[in-house]
Amino acid sequence: MAKDYYNILGVDKNASQDEIKKAFRKLAKKYHPDIAGNVGEEKFKEANEAFQVLGDKQKRAQYDQPGRGGFGSNDFSGGFSNVNFEDLFRDSGFGDIFNMFSGGGRRGRKGPKAGSDLRYNMDITLEQVFSGLTTKIEIPIYVTCKACKGTGSKDGILKTCDACGGSGEVKKVQRTPFGQTVFITTCDKCKGLGKMISEKCEKCNGTGRVRENKKIEIKIPEGFDEDSYLRVSGQGEAGYNGGPTGDLYVVVHVKPHKIFERQDSDLFCKVTINLSRAIFGGEIEIPTIEGTAKLKLPKGTQSHTIFRLRGQGLPGVHSHNRGDELVKIIVEIPKNLSGKHEESLKEIFGDDAKTTKGFFDKVKDFVS
Ligand SMILES: [Zn+2]
Ligand SMILES: [Zn+2]
Repeated sequence: MAKDYYNILGVDKNASQDEIKKAFRKLAKKYHPDIAGNVGEEKFKEANEAFQVLGDKQKRAQYDQPGRGGFGSNDFSGGFSNVNFEDLFRDSGFGDIFNMFSGGGRRGRKGPKAGSDLRYNMDITLEQVFSGLTTKIEIPIYVTCKACKGTGSKDGILKTCDACGGSGEVKKVQRTPFGQTVFITTCDKCKGLGKMISEKCEKCNGTGRVRENKKIEIKIPEGFDEDSYLRVSGQGEAGYNGGPTGDLYVVVHVKPHKIFERQDSDLFCKVTINLSRAIFGGEIEIPTIEGTAKLKLPKGTQSHTIFRLRGQGLPGVHSHNRGDELVKIIVEIPKNLSGKHEESLKEIFGDDAKTTKGFFDKVKDFVS
């Protein structure tokens, strides 16, 4: 009696190739000898055999043919030649099993490793954006231990590991469904370094790194963009076992300004003037990022008129051309006039509903 491969994989006869693949993956994970030991070996072989057939469209079609009752178990058993394990287990979070099949078994030999990159958030003022800024920041950081020069060894000397002879790897022979397989694994004694410390450095407890407050000079160029960052190369954390130092990323935030809003290299502000200044015009003092400037208003300046002061904005990061300052004039209408002032204004402007042009009058004006 032929084996029921569908039953072995626990899938429906109408299962898609994808479902079959998934089912086998699940079983392989469960019954792999490395995980389940000898108990799983038979099950693993069986599941593999089923997958050899059902996982292959052509073979599956043959197997499915009515009356044939499938293949004998010998037809497709043995040999993994048709299975691309890398394909099968890719992205399945099951990389280790693939490594074993490919005979490597090299699981992350612990060699030099780069130090972490660091992020530092920095708030600066708009004035500092204008002038640029050089400052020192202090951050707690892992640096290479000076006492042992990062070796972790008290006398600074590392001796060759006697367990692996300095290779960092040891060979292990293991029985698997494919017979004896030689695995190469990381040496436990030296954790793959191939070298050993005879006595630990006391300063860093043998790690080769110590935590320290490090002062780093930061230069923020003029006109620096909001929410961009500076990369300070080689100022991150120290690497491990001679690995490179990480980088420091300074993320710059510009604090809100009392007067100005920023858009790229242009500055925006509002200046309030009184009614008589609006009517008669004249010179007013306006704020700039550097102090103040004079602005000449024409007679009859309307509220919300915007004046552009060329070159009074922020310096550009990539060019030396400064942006502009845009000033919106707000005309303040007096709320509480004295009786005398009220009378005078009524005399000038009148106090008749007819003096206010309605919408339709305006349309008429416009048309005529
Ligand atoms: Zn040390
Ligand atoms: Zn070793």
